[in-house]
Amino acid sequence: MWWKNLLQAALELVYPPRRQCPLCAGHSPDESICHACRELLAGYAAEKFCPVCGSFMGPKQHRPQSAMLCQDCLAGSRPFDLARSVAPYEGPLRDAVHRLKYHGRTGLARPLGLLMVEAALREPAFERTQALVPVPLSPRREQQRGFNQALLLAREVGALLQAPVVEGAVVKIRETPAQTGLHRRERLQNLLHAFAVAEPGAVVGKIIAIIDDVFTTGSTVSIISQILRQSGAAGVMVLTLAGARKTEKW
Ligand SMILES: [Zn+2]
Ligand SMILES: [Zn+2]
Repeated sequence: MWWKNLLQAALELVYPPRRQCPLCAGHSPDESICHACRELLAGYAAEKFCPVCGSFMGPKQHRPQSAMLCQDCLAGSRPFDLARSVAPYEGPLRDAVHRLKYHGRTGLARPLGLLMVEAALREPAFERTQALVPVPLSPRREQQRGFNQALLLAREVGALLQAPVVEGAVVKIRETPAQTGLHRRERLQNLLHAFAVAEPGAVVGKIIAIIDDVFTTGSTVSIISQILRQSGAAGVMVLTLAGARKTEKW
């Protein structure tokens, strides 16, 4: 709610928040990512991951050497070329996403966007990015929240990667019911016709990176990838702050 954000802002003027690590909210004198969180991120970056959807699949030594796809990517081809994220949606990163999204801590978009750029720089394919498309919220949801976290993150990523953010190229034209607890097929059914490309000219012939805060099953970014391709995008990649964790056994 907008008034909650206003109240939060007013409170922060009166009681300035102590200097915090953007992830764990522990004390950090210069507001940089604290040592413990850096160690955690380094651990995630060293994990084996699905080369298509970027899902984190545990320590490398417990996995075969070859690049193994996760079960979801093995089961069917994805409409995006690849997806990457900073870390799985758990622990301090999950908390940070919640502070950004539900507590209006929009200032977190900058340090979190920087982490997304670090993740993008580990994947050479992102060098070819020509435009960033943030996952849109419905107008009603955006009005309720007062901002779209995906757009805030896209702006930070775009500034650092020097790629234009094509805000409004894709719009959400239909509210979708809550996605939690639904299977992949049901999620896709829910999302069909929820998004539309409003400005095909902004995406045609371009290599696009879709930007969002969280990738869980990838249903939302899959639908958006499909409609971007149908509108003539030359390539579609996905960059999210948080990604999926796959615990399947090999
Ligand atoms: Zn921390
Ligand atoms: Zn995968």
